[in-house]
Amino acid sequence: MTERFLPLPNGRAEEQLNDAKPLYTESQARAESNRCLYCFDAPCIQACPTAIDIPRFIKKIASDDLRGAAKTILDANILGHSCSMVCPVEVLCVGRCVYNDMKVPPIQIGRLQRYATEWLFSNNIRLYAAGEPNGKRVAIIGGGPAGLSCAAELARQGFHAVIYEARSLPGGLNVTGVAPYKMHATDALREVNYILDLGIELHTGTVVGRDIDIDWLQANYDAIFVGIGLGADGRLDIPGETQEGVVGAVDLIEKIKLDPTFNLNGVSQALVVGGGNTAIDVTRELLELGVANVSLVYRRDENSMSAYAHEWNAAKKCGATAFFGRRPVEIVGDGRASGIRCVKVSPASRDKRSSLVEIPGSEHVIAADLIVVAVGQAKLADTFGGVDGLVFEDGRFVVDAETGRCGQTKWFAGGDCANGGRCARSC
Ligand SMILES: Cc1cc2nc3c(=O)[nH]c(=O)nc-3n(C[C@H](O)[C@H](O)[C@H](O)COP(=O)(O)OP(=O)(O)OC[C@H]3O[C@@H](n4cnc5c(N)ncnc54)[C@H](O)[C@@H]3O)c2cc1C
Ligand code: SF4
Repeated sequence: MTERFLPLPNGRAEEQLNDAKPLYTESQARAESNRCLYCFDAPCIQACPTAIDIPRFIKKIASDDLRGAAKTILDANILGHSCSMVCPVEVLCVGRCVYNDMKVPPIQIGRLQRYATEWLFSNNIRLYAAGEPNGKRVAIIGGGPAGLSCAAELARQGFHAVIYEARSLPGGLNVTGVAPYKMHATDALREVNYILDLGIELHTGTVVGRDIDIDWLQANYDAIFVGIGLGADGRLDIPGETQEGVVGAVDLIEKIKLDPTFNLNGVSQALVVGGGNTAIDVTRELLELGVANVSLVYRRDENSMSAYAHEWNAAKKCGATAFFGRRPVEIVGDGRASGIRCVKVSPASRDKRSSLVEIPGSEHVIAADLIVVAVGQAKLADTFGGVDGLVFEDGRFVVDAETGRCGQTKWFAGGDCANGGRCARSC
């Protein structure tokens, strides 16, 4: 495997965070794989968004065929290594394992998947090669999970795949966003390198629409795939938000993962505004990095949070607390944020999504020396608004479910820019 983009600089905060689910040893993997019942019509396969033949790869681990196990995984999902660490298996394959019905601990499918794919990468074994060239060229905009998996598939079928990636590092949120206790950026980049070795051309630091003209792309490629993900952190749009000490969650996580100059010195009380998975991730990361008090500020109650319950429970075990039923109305401070002025709110009706009504006289300030805003990310499809024939809805690309094609064009789209970021985090 060619080692591009690695090693990353030392001293990044993410290096202090250990795997929540460490790599199995050989005997652990053997013991766990031997527990599998290799079910006929296995419910775990049906629950996997990429339909990996789970009992088949587990059986191969049990019979010491690790190459075969890894091939079974990657044949279905070329990003099977990162998925083994980041997928919310508790609500997917593991959550559907038949052992749950018997009140027996379910098979740890993600950890077995990681064991097999880790073995493949560590032993530098290539399973796939580029297909016979077919003379067709495809431009891929965005080098995140969507763009990379598209490029891998095309390269294996003989297309010349060219990725244009805005950042200096490829990998998208797998490198910049995923919580380090699930996967470190170095692991994600190892997987990127495995894919690029299929002969994929990559141009980093290249923003399509700014550095590359969209009309030029249309004229020079047989097809174009858009995998640009989502954009910048959303804002609260309240007074005081531009003060020092107020940061977007995705921005902050990127610093934790990649910036060797970043530290949390002097931060002892952090507030995270939001109730989704990114809010939970950043809460837990801050606690594990030594911030003494980290609390969520969320406008509804605990049961209304969009975050996975298992993730929130894990954050609570790390010491997370929450202020529920609060709506931020101002960030207070003298140029440097010192807290959030909130009002208490309650739902107007029993409907989970009902509008919220302010409780009179409930205004109060919650002190903080770091305020993290985790209220979603902007949508980026507007960049391509001038292309004839493309279809958009609510800032995302509308694609045909069968073909991935956007409108009657040679444009295709996938990943967060097409699903609005919903699938991966809530499927
Ligand atoms: C903080 C955070 C944590 C997450 N953790 C998990 C998790 O644990 N498990 C899970 O299943 N999912 C998780 N997700 C969701 C998951 O990361 C995304 O669903 C996934 O990365 C989407 O892949 P993508 O390729 O569509 O987009 P991205 O990963 O966002 O990649 C898009 C790429 O396109 C590039 N780009 C954008 N515009 C341009 C342009 N004009 N020209 C060139 N390049 C461009 C970007 O720089 C980026 O590299 C998380 C998301 C966030 C925000
Ligand atoms: S449901 Fe559980 S026991 Fe059955 S095949 Fe899947 S992992 Fe094995």
